[in-house]
Amino acid sequence: MGRRGSTGPSTPLLLGLGAFMLLVGLGLGLLLSQTSCQRKQKPAPPKLEAEPKSKPESKHPAKVVEPVKPAAAKQEPAAALPKFALVVDDLGYAAPELVTRLCAQPIPFTVAVLPYQEFTRESANIAFEKGKEVMLHLPMEPVGYPKANPGPGAVMFNLTEKEIRERVRKALDAIPHHTGVNNHMGSRITPDKPRMTWVLQEIKARHDFFVDSRTEKDSVAFDVAKELGVPSVQRKVFLDDDKAFAAMEKEWDRALAIAKKEGEVLIIAHIYPETVEALEKLIPRCRGEVKFVKAGELAK
Ligand SMILES: [Zn+2]
Repeated sequence: MGRRGSTGPSTPLLLGLGAFMLLVGLGLGLLLSQTSCQRKQKPAPPKLEAEPKSKPESKHPAKVVEPVKPAAAKQEPAAALPKFALVVDDLGYAAPELVTRLCAQPIPFTVAVLPYQEFTRESANIAFEKGKEVMLHLPMEPVGYPKANPGPGAVMFNLTEKEIRERVRKALDAIPHHTGVNNHMGSRITPDKPRMTWVLQEIKARHDFFVDSRTEKDSVAFDVAKELGVPSVQRKVFLDDDKAFAAMEKEWDRALAIAKKEGEVLIIAHIYPETVEALEKLIPRCRGEVKFVKAGELAK
């Protein structure tokens, strides 16, 4: 009895101790499982952040971290290459089939679309869907007017300031997806500081960049754009003044030489069937030699 009495109280004590240990163990287990959840959850947000960044580069969302590396590695040699910006002017009246054929070129480039033409909206939409940059090709009065006609809704020299501003705004509204503007003709307007100021102030209000096509050597457009703080760039070469392939090839090579010498070049072509055909030969030829960029990337 005495023995039982002595062992008696120790058994509940042991049981109590056991139960206590079990509780402590459970508590610890729970605590650990919670911290491990937190540990698991914490690295998750960077994964989610990395995913959208890697998406344009890769179509494999399952590989979250890997696509970032090759993209960064690819950019290094490409950044060292001279930048080559191709702008194709006068879209709007060309058949959508020709625009689709042009936009099949697997490089970044820019199209400039005329307002109020039969295929204005369709052309801008095709180019945008193919990932190309879209600009308004703003018609402006040339010196040779009316023999040379810039087309409907053009910025004409004898219009008032109010009328010119309205015409620019209306033309901008006519082009979907535009992020920049360049001039179509315009040799009567681009040397005129007041008129170019009105035009460029309207462009600035839309946060667009400006490409001076340099159809007139005395153009002040680029300087006025700089003064107003509109990101801008000037054309260096016209590809297809002569539509013979040999002539276009010569201009293309001249642009390549300028790019290599100066680090960048902007070349303007037109949506002629001959030009589209020539580009299909010329573009694949110099891959690896230059980095094709959209015009907006050269606008500073
Ligand atoms: Zn033009």
